[in-house]
Order: sequence, then C-alpha cells, then structure tokens
Amino acid sequence: MAESLLITNGTIVTWEPGQEFIENGAIYIEGGRINEIGPARDLEARYAQADRLDAGGQMVMPGNICAHTHFYGAFARGMAIPGPAPKDFPQILEKLWWPLDQALREEDVRYSALICLVDAIRHGTTTLIDHHASPNALDGSLDIIADAVEEAGLRAVLSYEVTDRYGPESARASIAENVRFLRACKTRRNIAATFGLHASLTLSDETLGECVDAAQGLETGFHIHVAEDPADEYDSLAKSGKRVVDRLCGAGILGEKSIVVHAVHTDAREKEILRDMSTWVTHQPRSNMNNAVGAADVEGMLRMGIPVCLGNDGFSNAMWEEWKAAYLLHKVWNRDPRRANGADIAEIAIQNNAALASLLFPASPPGLLMPGAAADIIFVDYNSPTPVHAGNLPWHIIFGFEASMVTTTIVAGKALMRDRKLLTLDEKAISARARELAPSVWERYHSIVGATL
Ligand SMILES: [Zn+2]
Repeated sequence: MAESLLITNGTIVTWEPGQEFIENGAIYIEGGRINEIGPARDLEARYAQADRLDAGGQMVMPGNICAHTHFYGAFARGMAIPGPAPKDFPQILEKLWWPLDQALREEDVRYSALICLVDAIRHGTTTLIDHHASPNALDGSLDIIADAVEEAGLRAVLSYEVTDRYGPESARASIAENVRFLRACKTRRNIAATFGLHASLTLSDETLGECVDAAQGLETGFHIHVAEDPADEYDSLAKSGKRVVDRLCGAGILGEKSIVVHAVHTDAREKEILRDMSTWVTHQPRSNMNNAVGAADVEGMLRMGIPVCLGNDGFSNAMWEEWKAAYLLHKVWNRDPRRANGADIAEIAIQNNAALASLLFPASPPGLLMPGAAADIIFVDYNSPTPVHAGNLPWHIIFGFEASMVTTTIVAGKALMRDRKLLTLDEKAISARARELAPSVWERYHSIVGATL
C-alpha cells in the first residue's frame, strides 16, 4: 500500500490562484503526492486510518524552490582571497571561483553538497537546481552529489558546467558527465538533470556544437550563465560578431527546456529572442549585488512574457532572503519605490519557479499545493501581528518571515525535519567533517591562485 499521511490543523497556503488560503485545513498525502486538500474536519473523517501530523495551527506551505544554485561553493565561506580584492566580475571568477573549483576533490564535492542540503532542509527549500564544477574530481561527480541529495531526501536537478578553460580533454569529459548523468538519473527518485554549460565567454563554437550534438535524443535543455557581466557580451561580440543570446540561439542552446541564468546585460533584441524561444531566465539579486554586476530588467522581461524565476547562485538556501533582496535591489537601482512589487516577486518565486520545477519533475510537479502535486511541504511558525490573506501574503513574507520560522520540512510525503529537528542528516557530524576538509581545500586553492596571479 502506498505510504499515506494526513497533515491536519494548519492554515494551508496553496498559492493556487483563487484558492490560496484554507483556514483549519488538512492535506492528505499518498505515494509522495498530494491526494486531497480541504477542511480538516472533512479529511479527518474521510481518512480516519491515516497517520496524522498535527501542524499545530502553523502555516502549511509548498516548500521553496531555488532555480539556480552552486553547491560546490560551500567551502568559500570565510575563505581569504589573497592579494588586492577583485575589482570586477572577471577578477572574481579568476581569483575566487575558478581556483576554488579546481581545489575540490571527491569528498569535498560530497561535503559541499551536504552543507548546502542541511541549510536547505532547515530553511524550507525543497527543490534545488544545481550547477556543478570540480574539474579535478569530474567523472562521477554528479553521482556523488545525487547520493547526498538522496540521503538528505530533497529534490534536485543536477548539471555539470562544460567550459573550455581547462582544455579540450576536460571539456569532453564534462560533456560526457552530463550525458552519463542525464541517462543515469532516470533510475533515481526525486533527481533530474539538465545539460550544464558555464557561459558563452568560456565556450568556443566547436564546444557548443559538441554539446548540442551530445544532447541529441536526451530530451534536455541547457543551463547556462548569460550576460552576467558586460564582459560576456564583449567576449561574444569579439568572438562571433554576435551578442551572447544571438550566439547561443544560433548554436541551438536555447529552447523551452533551457535555463538562462542572470541575463543582466541582455539588450532589447536579446530579450525578444529569449521570449520567442520560450527560454527560462533566473534572477539572483544577492549574487548580482555581491558581484556588483547591475540589476536585470526583471519587470520588463515579465511584461514581455519571459518566465523569470528566482535562484540564489550559491547564497544561503533561505529563499525568502532572495525575495527581500529582489524587493530592495530594484528600488534602489531605479531610485523608484514602486519597482519590484511584492506580487511580481511572488509570481517569480512561486508561480514561475513551480512551472520550471514541474517541467523537470512532470510526474509529481512541485511548488504549489494541489491534488497530484508533489507532497513537498513546509510548516511556518508565523504569528502575525496583522491580518494575513492571499492579497498581502507577499509583503508578510518580505517584511515578516524569517527562514528560522520553518519548523518542519517534508519532501515527497517524507519528513526531513520535524519541529526543527533534522531527521535525515546529522548536521553536527557534517559540519565537523567539513571543518576537517576545509583547510586542505583552502591550501590547494591558495596554491592554484598563487600560481595564476
Ligand atoms: Zn551561477
């Protein structure tokens, strides 16, 4: 018999248009999916035999989705960058991320992922779309991450970033890793894959062509950073005479399963191409501020009909922090307090993230609470001092919610955290082992960055 669970005594926030709130509601889960949602008294009578989980009057919401992240960056926390501070985005890549990805060994890949997965469970992020790089521990690295995700019990979409920066052999190996994992992930629960590419600025036409050829028949899109900084556009113009989106479109990289990350410096025509190709764009405001690369025209893209989603680019897996950053960034960037309306942010973070995740997990679509959807659910202990309803919920999230208010995290009907106690991962043991590994990761990083400075 399929595993079943009845969540009762909660304020259900479905995010389903027209039926966002159910006071004193219940959710009946069977086989990892939501079977029925309704008033608690009805469902308690109908499913009297089911195991019960009392939400204690908390808000019961879909788990958050992160549309773009990098587990591999976890060891960067607290790490010193030698020499003068990087002055722009290309220097941040050269002095921080590229030497760090080279410093990772297999166990570091595993612990980078585990650190992020603990953070995700604790802060209610249940689906993560990851973009991985570890050129010195490349073959099988996506399996190492997938094993960690399965141990955690979360849902993830994995990819390996193809780049030319470590030579043709490494590029070929990274293409093979994507292809291998796109096939291998089909036998795993709650794991999907997409084809990772670093960015136009580190990919030749030949490599792009090899990726498109390798992806034939795999029914996948690509996951690639685009125009995060003007350097990507200048590189593309110098290399091909085309802007980045035109170049990628010409190469066959765009499409309705492809994810374009950032799109900060795309021009009007590039946005038209993204829309016409039904390609997803992800927005990462904390990362954009940290790298000082500017602010994407998110509202303009939404008005054009481009599905913009919300990611974190390796920042904490507390997605409401990303809501808050988006809300503030566009106001100060445009010096206009009307920008980045709370409802627009909810559209990105809830509706569009759910649509993207559902494309990648069609059998049990995550992100909204409705019959047939994945039973990926969080409890939020939010004692509001003012009325909460569907119309003002985004502003409660932006001004009132904290990630620490997540008390219970459930994925596919299975509790991964209950009353703030982690049930699948041992946070203390993971942190302790990561602290043992970090000094050697940092040492390797320092010798690599020292050699390239
Ligand atoms: Zn990224």
